[in-house]
Amino acid sequence: MAGSGVFGEIIDGDVFKYYADGEWKKSSSGKAVSIINPTTRKTQYKVQACTQEEVNKVMETAKAAQKSWAKTPLWKRAELLHKAAAILKEHKAPIAEALIKEIAKPAKDAVTEVVRSGDLVSYCAEEGVRILGQGTFLVSDSFPGNERTKYCLTSKIPLGVVLAIPPFNYPVNLAVSKIAPALIAGNSLVLKPPTQGAVACLHMVHCFHLAGFPKGLISCITGKGSEIGDFLTMHPGVNCISFTGGDTGIAISKKAGMIPLQMELGGKDACIVLEDADLDLVAANIIKGGFSYSGQRCTAVKVVLVMESVADTLVEKVKSKVAKLTVGPPEDDCDITPVVSESSANFIEGLVMDAKQKGATFCQEYKREGNLIWPLLLDHVRPDMRIAWEEPFGPVLPVIRIGSVEEGIHHCNASNFGLQGCVFTKDINKAMLISDAMESGTIQINSAPARGPDHFPFQGIKDSGIGSQGITNSINMMTKVKSTVINLPSPSYTMG
Ligand code: NAP
Repeated sequence: MAGSGVFGEIIDGDVFKYYADGEWKKSSSGKAVSIINPTTRKTQYKVQACTQEEVNKVMETAKAAQKSWAKTPLWKRAELLHKAAAILKEHKAPIAEALIKEIAKPAKDAVTEVVRSGDLVSYCAEEGVRILGQGTFLVSDSFPGNERTKYCLTSKIPLGVVLAIPPFNYPVNLAVSKIAPALIAGNSLVLKPPTQGAVACLHMVHCFHLAGFPKGLISCITGKGSEIGDFLTMHPGVNCISFTGGDTGIAISKKAGMIPLQMELGGKDACIVLEDADLDLVAANIIKGGFSYSGQRCTAVKVVLVMESVADTLVEKVKSKVAKLTVGPPEDDCDITPVVSESSANFIEGLVMDAKQKGATFCQEYKREGNLIWPLLLDHVRPDMRIAWEEPFGPVLPVIRIGSVEEGIHHCNASNFGLQGCVFTKDINKAMLISDAMESGTIQINSAPARGPDHFPFQGIKDSGIGSQGITNSINMMTKVKSTVINLPSPSYTMG
């Protein structure tokens, strides 16, 4: 059970503590933030509402701890990360339970998220040892006008304090995808978990605590992003922000100081289907890509752009698969579970009603009970409907019928987003040309968009993000190049 066994010390009464200076603490605010179970719509957990003074203290200790951590041998940093990964995997059950209760993640997916996170931490430790163990060596006479009188040695040094802010949908995985690269690179880390998902994150942080990381190196500040977020992101003690979420990221980018930013934001991932595509494969990928975790994935298929000539057949195939999706509580490992909050369900409903009013074809009846929305395929969607452009983050998928590939590419590129996209065709030449033409960070050929495997580069363009991640890119992003130049005497100098 969450907050029991080895996790007993992270809770006080019914309120989970925050983590600072190597200890679990109660906030002096005396206030708690409620985490609402999306299924029951009742308070499931409570976390501390941390104060600005507590943030200041955490930043001070993070700064101090980072100085000695940066001098800790790389192999030792890696050893601790491997230890944390093993502890995390060992305690997957209570963490998965928190994911089920806080964000209604289907039971099996909740366990998968924790195991995948442990694997990510281990991979990151190994990758860090390799790439941070290397530097470059340059000689001066390769640049015009220079003699060989300078040797330049470069290595990668940490940035300082990294602020990590993950979203609700993969709170553990998207927290460790920031924590592990930051730590292996010699940074300290302040985590602000999403409110829905905070308890899973606190358990994950305790696994790092149990692994024996130095005091103050990792901290976890809880509280509502709307209340504590600006203070954190504009804090002068922060040297880098790694954020994953929605439009909030755009606002943060405008307010943050002159520090490196890693922004992984929303998407409207398009699925372009050509006439020669294997429609069974497409239908299976639309189901997996559009409806896994009820569509609450940044890389979910969010609009299908299908050639008119094969649209009827494809829609029929998808419809028959939608009918087989199980709908219900996450504890029963249903395919479709309640969306994260009532406001999210209301937003999705708004998109559905707009499409209805403007004449979309409903392939299923629209049905909602509380936060639970039954999977819905909307056919004959047109560009004047909101769902053609907006990210529902729910189990509702629009189909736009296109008369040409160019029309599909045009729709994809007219979006403000540019995270991922996919194209289905048996013609690899066409697939490559379409991939080149789509303005998105990644194009999958003959498969639904996906973030993993976690070492692949992952990036969005336009409003979908800044920078690139994936384990190697994240480690590089959380470091800076440092040069040392050895100046030698002129070539006329003689040793004798
Ligand atoms: P969100 O509302 O933007 O929240 C993300 C995080 O920001 C949460 O931890 C939130 O804390 C925090 N936050 C809120 N206001 C803040 C502020 N003023 N300053 C600093 N932090 C603040 O996003 P979400 O609803 O959790 O996640 C869904 C979105 O994330 C979707 O748009 C999805 O596409 C995107 N996403 C993108 C990727 C990617 O890699 N590109 C991956 C996953 C999700 P609270 O929970 O306390 O408000």
